[in-house]
Amino acid sequence: MTKINVKKFGGTSVGSFERIEAVADAIARAHHEGERQVLVLSAMAGETNRLYAMAANIDPVASARELDMLVTAGEQVSIALMAMALERRGIKARSLLGSQVKIRTNNQFGRASIELVETNGLIGLLDAGVVPVIAGFQGVDGEGNITTLGRGGSDTTAVAVAAALNAAECQIFTDVCGVFTTDPNIDPNAQKLDSISFEAMYEMARQGAKVLHPDSVACARRHGVVLRVLSSFEPGSGTLIRFDEPDHTVSGIVGIAVSRGQGLVSVSGVVDNPPAEVALFKTLADACVDTDLVAQQPSERMLSFSLAQAEVNKVLALIDTLTGAHALGAVNYETELAKVSLISTGKPVMAELAARVTELLAAQNIRVRLVSTAEIKLSVMIDEKDLQQAVRSLHRAFNLNKV
Ligand code: ADP
Ligand code: ASP
Ligand code: MG
Repeated sequence: MTKINVKKFGGTSVGSFERIEAVADAIARAHHEGERQVLVLSAMAGETNRLYAMAANIDPVASARELDMLVTAGEQVSIALMAMALERRGIKARSLLGSQVKIRTNNQFGRASIELVETNGLIGLLDAGVVPVIAGFQGVDGEGNITTLGRGGSDTTAVAVAAALNAAECQIFTDVCGVFTTDPNIDPNAQKLDSISFEAMYEMARQGAKVLHPDSVACARRHGVVLRVLSSFEPGSGTLIRFDEPDHTVSGIVGIAVSRGQGLVSVSGVVDNPPAEVALFKTLADACVDTDLVAQQPSERMLSFSLAQAEVNKVLALIDTLTGAHALGAVNYETELAKVSLISTGKPVMAELAARVTELLAAQNIRVRLVSTAEIKLSVMIDEKDLQQAVRSLHRAFNLNKV
């Protein structure tokens, strides 16, 4: 039996009628060559953002369930158009929502995890020569509610479907020709990698390299899925996410990931005040706020944490509710920050790396607000306006520029 390939096309790849037609042509060619293909699509570029913005007009703090119901509409449009484009080419195709495939998730609206992908229906379609065209990013919980997997989650749908079908490859088609040493839209000297280890790719994704959703990398690793990132605009072999050997680099740094739109909130009177610290983190957790880098400054008993800029107002309001009961001190915040993270092979001496990075940035008058290290990554929080300069100079300094 011919092996199955799962092919995922992101928003830009299906962002216009021309792009849908171009993808349909490529799928038709492969179909006529005998390939068994399952498609997973994102919404057309900009559509998911448009839907979130619509919700904000009605209720800026709309319930997560209703948001998921709304924003999954984008993928319903793209899959139907793609199925039509394939049928016009004489290829049998069937568009399917997550709930129709039965992509079962937990009930964490807005960031659900896939628990199960039902394969009987998909296999039946493939056996009948039909190309399934699945809506990415969405699933259904045990009670029949529609859920989403988090922004960029169509990658994860594709990998989960590939794992369930035991596919030969899961191919993520996007608007760049693979995984680069850093975002090629920030640094034109970024190099395309022929392959990258799962370990480094997962950390790159977690630290903001949008090219793959972090859950998709974790899921592929867990299930042994062969995962490749390719361009839907030009031919090429893309980047293979590798299971075997570690990454080889000159400087010990594999790549640099960036995360824009960050905020920093500092609350004094928290350190050495365990009830306040517990109450603060519990309140944030109950409101599903993801804190990222956390730092303590004993002198002012100040606790600082970074988070998505969009969450800052909500968090300030939450902290306000704790101030009286826990004798919290001054609360400060900053926005328009960006996180730059260096991902290493192996485990470098982080203090040395931190010294080198902060020295390099200081030499260019780039202020570092926060430094954080973990096993294979070092992150610095800087002003968003300095992002491009910081990335380009670090990329050069760590010998990542193309030669
Ligand atoms: P899609 O809509 O296809 O899912 P995304 O916008 O989610 O595409 O991801 C592709 C984008 O990821 C690229 O256009 C690029 O700007 C960005 N990106 C960030 N870091 C990297 C990286 N290290 N390698 C390649 N692309 C990256
Ligand atoms: N359409 C969704 C988003 O914009 C999912 C995806 O594109 O992967 O986040
Ligand atoms: Mg994406």
